[in-house]
Amino acid sequence: MAKILGIHHIALVVPEIEQALEFWRGTLGLPLQEIADFPEQASRIAFLPLEKGEVELVEPSTPDSGIARFLQKRGPGIHHICFEVDDLDGMIVLLKERGIRLLSDQPMVGGGGRRMIFIHPESAKGVLVELYEARAGND
Ligand code: ZN
Repeated sequence: MAKILGIHHIALVVPEIEQALEFWRGTLGLPLQEIADFPEQASRIAFLPLEKGEVELVEPSTPDSGIARFLQKRGPGIHHICFEVDDLDGMIVLLKERGIRLLSDQPMVGGGGRRMIFIHPESAKGVLVELYEARAGND
């Protein structure tokens, strides 16, 4: 049976990455790997990988996207938690069997071929949950 392996990253929504980095990098010393644009997600994302897990700072790049509305409505803070799973397709079958609401029908494919899907907060006690599958032998 598909299972959760650990926390892959925690994504924080911020109004401005550079300003947020003053705390996350400047004060706490988290290492900044890169800042990249993701037009298809209407956001810029800063990746701060740790020995275990990663923090992502997500800045909306358009004023009317889902992430921008999230920031407007709830303010800066935790946007979602991402769990790494060993078998994403197996996990999706399991969740659908249990009546769990997903944000999309099929997994999305991100940078580096990384596959992910989101569980709707309504089905996850108010938390937006991302499930991510690393490619075999990679990442
Ligand atoms: Zn994520």
